[in-house]
Amino acid sequence: MQTRRDFLQKLGASAAGLPLLPYLSEQAGAAPYDGPVLRVAIMGLGGYGTRVAEAMQACKMAKLVGVVSGTPAKIEAWKTKYGIPDKNCYSYENFDKIKDNPDIDAVYVITPNGLHREHVIRTAKAGKHAICEKPMAVNAKEGQEMVDACKKAGVKLLVGYRMHFEPHTVEIIRMRKAGEFGKIQFFQGLSGFKIGDPTQWRLNKKLAGGGSMMDIGVYSINGSRYMVGEDPIWVTAQETKTDPVKFKEGVDETITFQLGFPSGVTASCLSTYAFNYLDRFYLVGEKGFAELNPSTGYGPIRGRTHKGELNQPVVTHQTLQMDSMAGIILQGKEAPVPVDGEEGVKDLKIIDAIYEAARSGKKVEIRL
Ligand code: NAD
Repeated sequence: MQTRRDFLQKLGASAAGLPLLPYLSEQAGAAPYDGPVLRVAIMGLGGYGTRVAEAMQACKMAKLVGVVSGTPAKIEAWKTKYGIPDKNCYSYENFDKIKDNPDIDAVYVITPNGLHREHVIRTAKAGKHAICEKPMAVNAKEGQEMVDACKKAGVKLLVGYRMHFEPHTVEIIRMRKAGEFGKIQFFQGLSGFKIGDPTQWRLNKKLAGGGSMMDIGVYSINGSRYMVGEDPIWVTAQETKTDPVKFKEGVDETITFQLGFPSGVTASCLSTYAFNYLDRFYLVGEKGFAELNPSTGYGPIRGRTHKGELNQPVVTHQTLQMDSMAGIILQGKEAPVPVDGEEGVKDLKIIDAIYEAARSGKKVEIRL
């Protein structure tokens, strides 16, 4: 088992070029961790699965112990790289046998969005806790079925909302709760990038569930909720499409949307696959403001408020997320902002409403 010091050294390395962060140096002398460890199998060894696996090497409370993949060559490479034993390797065909494996506690589903429902429900039926990537499913109905399946099986379901643990984000939420911005009045969320390869699953309605909204717009939706501190009650939305060949029916290229909250706060957001340099949150209150820019990329996240620059620790998001999720699953700890399946379903209900508003041109009520 690696020590706390190893963990901190790796975290420090990930923040290369940045000053050593106050809370990291404070904890550098802390005793090595010897508590319970969440043993995780990753399902879907693609781009993000690989990033999570690398980040997990620095975890102290979570450990990568298994894989689920349809590509034998990837399984071989991961076995060698991460010391994964044969008995913890599964294909999508024989995956249900994981229920007989006492050495795996949880499965992290990192497959295309349209497969999350099936993969999480199979995980629950095998009696394993499920961590599922965002968006949790392709609509709220599917998301609710996943929540119900996990409840029935008595396992936990968490969604990979890594920003809910990110220190700059958590600090702004703390300041908002402490009243430092006064009465909140407005939020702006900009989420987007220019997507490449037109043949990728992200542009396939069946596998992606939609387009940019499913993939990246979900950050502005989820972010509006944790920045404002309320859940929206209505939405209006407008869709534009410059390339109907690349962005086929049901695959959104750009959507602007406005959310209304019970207190009267409004949010104005943009989700796009058409252009770059869009990763910014801006919160306005009567007494001040908060800006995150970048707000949800892999980091380093930068934040400032009316009081000046935020100087929170720069962390590897997925390392902190997986250690925190191990605490939630094994020790019943609470996340700074919930990351459970119900939270994922709320965002899916908002996405359903945004699509309906864009289609109909009407203001759509949201009931969460
Ligand atoms: P990817 O294409 O790089 O990897 C997807 C993996 O799923 C591949 O290994 C692929 O082989 C496997 N797969 C299994 N069945 C498949 C099928 N029928 N069709 C296509 N691929 C199949 O994608 P990714 O970027 O790793 O995204 C995976 C999930 O992770 C998505 O839900 C995405 O939204 C999410 N994600 C989250 C973050 C984050 O920051 N939280 C970042 C990137 C991706």
